Amino acid sequence: MVPRRVLVGMATCVLILLTLDRLFPPPDPPPFSDQICDRDGELLGAFLTPDDKWRLRTRLEDLPREMHTAVLTKEDRWFFLHPGVNVFAVMRALYTNVTSGKRISGASTITMQVARMLEPDERRYLVKFREMLRALQLELRYSKREILELYVSLLPMGGNIEGVASASWIYFNRPPERLSLAQSVACTLLPNDPNALRLDRDVAPLQRRTRRWLRRFDAMNVFPRDAIEAALAESFTVSRSAPPLRAPQFCHTVRARPGGDIRITTLDPGVQDASERLLANHVGRVIADGVTNGAVLVLGCDSMETLAYCGSADFYDDVNRGQVDGVTALRSPGSTLKPFLYARAFDDGTLTPKRRMVDIPTDFHGYAPENFDAEFHGEVTVSEALLQSLNVPAVRELARQGTGSFVSWLSALGFRDISERREKLGLSLILGGCGATLRELTHAFSVFARAGMLSPLRIERDDVFSEGREMLTPEAAWMVSDILSRHERPDIPAELLEQSRLPKIAWKTGTSYGKRDAWAIGWNGRYVIGVWMGNFSGKGAPHLSGAVMAVPLLVDLFNAIDTEGKGMDIPKPEKIRTRHVCTRTGLLPSPQCSSTESDVYIEGRSSSARCDLMRRYHVDAAESMHYCMDCLPDTGAIQRWYPAYPPELALWFDRNNVGIPRPPPHNPVCTARRPGEGPQILSPSPDYTYYLERGAGQEILLQAAAQAGVKKLYWYVDGDLHREVEAGAKVFFKPTLKSHRIRCMDDAGRMSRVRIEVVYY
Ligand SMILES: [Zn+2]
Ligand SMILES: [Zn+2]
Repeated sequence: MVPRRVLVGMATCVLILLTLDRLFPPPDPPPFSDQICDRDGELLGAFLTPDDKWRLRTRLEDLPREMHTAVLTKEDRWFFLHPGVNVFAVMRALYTNVTSGKRISGASTITMQVARMLEPDERRYLVKFREMLRALQLELRYSKREILELYVSLLPMGGNIEGVASASWIYFNRPPERLSLAQSVACTLLPNDPNALRLDRDVAPLQRRTRRWLRRFDAMNVFPRDAIEAALAESFTVSRSAPPLRAPQFCHTVRARPGGDIRITTLDPGVQDASERLLANHVGRVIADGVTNGAVLVLGCDSMETLAYCGSADFYDDVNRGQVDGVTALRSPGSTLKPFLYARAFDDGTLTPKRRMVDIPTDFHGYAPENFDAEFHGEVTVSEALLQSLNVPAVRELARQGTGSFVSWLSALGFRDISERREKLGLSLILGGCGATLRELTHAFSVFARAGMLSPLRIERDDVFSEGREMLTPEAAWMVSDILSRHERPDIPAELLEQSRLPKIAWKTGTSYGKRDAWAIGWNGRYVIGVWMGNFSGKGAPHLSGAVMAVPLLVDLFNAIDTEGKGMDIPKPEKIRTRHVCTRTGLLPSPQCSSTESDVYIEGRSSSARCDLMRRYHVDAAESMHYCMDCLPDTGAIQRWYPAYPPELALWFDRNNVGIPRPPPHNPVCTARRPGEGPQILSPSPDYTYYLERGAGQEILLQAAAQAGVKKLYWYVDGDLHREVEAGAKVFFKPTLKSHRIRCMDDAGRMSRVRIEVVYY
């Protein structure tokens, strides 16, 4: 039986000790250098700590086994057995001190050395005693492994270098796991006298000490004899070099995220190597054309991992601003947003790939987009509009969907600047009148490769994969991929077609206004790759275009990276069906449609509207005039079908000599005022404010498209007849007031009107 008093006394002691431990805790370890690693854990880049030290945390598993043995044999053989203080060693040291009368600095355990490194103190009074108390505290807080890891991470290696990993990279230019036995032993010797060994001057003293210790280890029998022999024969060299910095912009991106000091990323070293090499080669080839930089981002489709990230062609090229990160730089996306617009139209049922779209000069409130080749095509299919990246059909489609709705959708797709500037964006955004980054674009295009799903981009291994959300139906995503994997397109360099080096991919190019940015984003079921080419100075180059500058690099990247896969690897969704549509409109055929072709559609979604292009007219036997219901003769008339194109399109056909059947003019002796709409006024734009220079004599264009059969148009300004012209002809007028009423009447008396506001400056 232990007396009660003793028990209480012991408990009180423990309580006091624990309180003291809480009141005077050992200091926390200093901050470690950030280490950014690739997916295999290999170091990509390391960074100085806030206190300007190379202090790379050294993971025990990264050290060669010989290193563990050397450290424990040399410093603390009973490390795993003692509680932080080796009582026997202390007693022996005391005894030796007393008997020899000399101070011997033995008996320091690894834990005590860690305590000293955490709390360096020059005062010698009772230092040893404090170290022992601190060692006990450390053993309470950390495991043996953690203490050993702190020890190898904090060892002073000379100058601002701390820890075995730092020394291994900086002195031996290699990861710690590749240290030889001789180098390992050298690393354990450096801390004894780091500043006296002066590696920058002479490595011989360190070599001598290393060999001495190797012989000592040999005598202790801790390493095999042949390993010692080899290490003795090794004459290592030491050169001071900075720790590696590969994929520098990527490393900075990772560092900017919250996290610990060792970051394992998803970067694939092989894919990164290939991307860096191809990008540098490619920029080398086009630099003579005034294009000095580029950026590449490679994503894996399965897991949405970032596999390669090249922010510029050469980080150390100061002349061409190599430090800029081209992956996150805000640029004009050119035409690269068009596929998203059409995909949305596939999803809302309005369009299918063979639907006809209008491609004629169009004035959107003073904004009149042109095509890249400055030509118009009258009518094109959706597929053609997308493959040839035509501007007018895209702007008209955006006007139909509404800029606000499209911008909201793009915001959900991850375009930040577009989201922030949503109030300021107009129809030109679909032609690049907005800001986007290579990272946003490449990420956004992954929805086409991944059945319409947008999953978060993964950069670090611990970023969890999530299915994300559905931005498009799998069917709409497939339709866009299917169209853009075809080769009937202008943005395909001829030499690539000839050499049949084309991988099985879909892609979209873009060229920004002023030829400042060239884009190509390509994908199949396995990879999404984004390429940007341009100058970080923002300067344009005459030959800069997505087709010429970005596509060849995109093709090379796919050929180098996607070596296993075959085909597009994007399965056709079940609800994609095939049907016959009218060749002239792309709508379901009516009995009057003369020819049909096959088109794909989305079951239950795509519009099933019938073609109503053909209209029936009553004409005379000679087909020289047509009758209305008022003047239809009792004797009867012949029925004929004519296509009823929208007036503006019919006008464009006429002017460009596109032969389309037109009904003959209306019966000239008919006096009936035919009901119906007046001419379609194409210019001026209604309710639009014109800004004119005062006294410059500027004129405003009057132009209207008349209905079939109309020959004359009459223009009225503020109630007065201004001019009488042939249907479709252009008229000009010089405004004089702040506001004008403009009317256009056709020869059947049908009237249209607009009102314009004029500001003179
Ligand atoms: Zn038809
Ligand atoms: Zn009539």
